[in-house]
Amino acid sequence: MPELPEVETVRRGLTPVLEGARLSRVRINRPDLRFPFPERFVERLEGATVMRIDRRAKYLLMPLSTGETWITHLGMTGRFTLDGTLLGEFEEAAPIAGKHEHFSGCAIRDGAATRIGYADARRFGFMGLISSDQIETHPWFAGLGPEPLGNGFSGAHLVEAFADKKQNIKVSLLDQRIVAGLGNIYVCEALYRARISPLVAAGSVSKSRLERLATEVRNVLNDAIAAGGSTLRDFANAEGGQGYFQHRFDVYGREGEPCRGVTCTGVVARIVQGGRSTFYCPSCQKR
Ligand SMILES: [Zn+2]
Repeated sequence: MPELPEVETVRRGLTPVLEGARLSRVRINRPDLRFPFPERFVERLEGATVMRIDRRAKYLLMPLSTGETWITHLGMTGRFTLDGTLLGEFEEAAPIAGKHEHFSGCAIRDGAATRIGYADARRFGFMGLISSDQIETHPWFAGLGPEPLGNGFSGAHLVEAFADKKQNIKVSLLDQRIVAGLGNIYVCEALYRARISPLVAAGSVSKSRLERLATEVRNVLNDAIAAGGSTLRDFANAEGGQGYFQHRFDVYGREGEPCRGVTCTGVVARIVQGGRSTFYCPSCQKR
């Protein structure tokens, strides 16, 4: 399942092709993904220019010249594919993403077109078109906390958000109202890096340790984004590419394996919190 770094990697991969490009030959191959496509979706995208590509939590947002913003959530298996071969504006391009391609179109810039596909085998992804001035109040975005890589996220923010909180810190960090777009994998990894036990009450952790945690949240996301950058070629290669990168995790998915801490002889454990697996080292994350 794509988490924030994967979505950010997709954003960076699409930007050189889509930013400033006019959309043409848009097609959908079924009426819905997780939700129905918006009404008159094709007509509302055709001819519009993509101003830029933003990311909010795990959403990709493309403000258009029409005053609407094209929004995509990749769900579990959604992926954009690009045919890197530049086509003439009126040249037809063959589908590239196989039977699970539900959306396609061309991005036209300087008279040349790049074909875009969107494939989603499990169809947990979805697309929307929202008036650009109503994004912040839309139910998908209203109430989201600050971006973990943005200026609004810090140790001080966690101190305030966690004040008197009895809930454990693992589940608290997954709360999208506290920080947006942070998922299970990176919460486990950040708590490990900060050497904080996932079991402690969020409100009991000291300010200095929450400052370290905020730093480690940023570090682990930035490391994953940096690792994802090297797979952009595969991503652009479409079907047959590697898909999302396999970042090397310290604890996630490593139950029973030795802790990577240089001086630690502990073994990574798995517990369930709030219905999700937590991986941690009980030896170096004692409190
Ligand atoms: Zn350890």
